[in-house]
Amino acid sequence: MPHGQDREGANSPDSESTYECLQCGQIVTATSHPGVCECGGEFQNRGKSLE
Ligand SMILES: [Zn+2]
Repeated sequence: MPHGQDREGANSPDSESTYECLQCGQIVTATSHPGVCECGGEFQNRGKSLE
């Protein structure tokens, strides 16, 4: 999988994506990349949130 897949083009820029911490598995939903988890792990974009 390619790494820069934030831009899917179809949805509005305000649409939320789901991010998962690679270290502790915490799930975060945000409109932009949440940065670093409180555990120090990196978040990975899991794609659009499912309603
Ligand atoms: Zn974490």
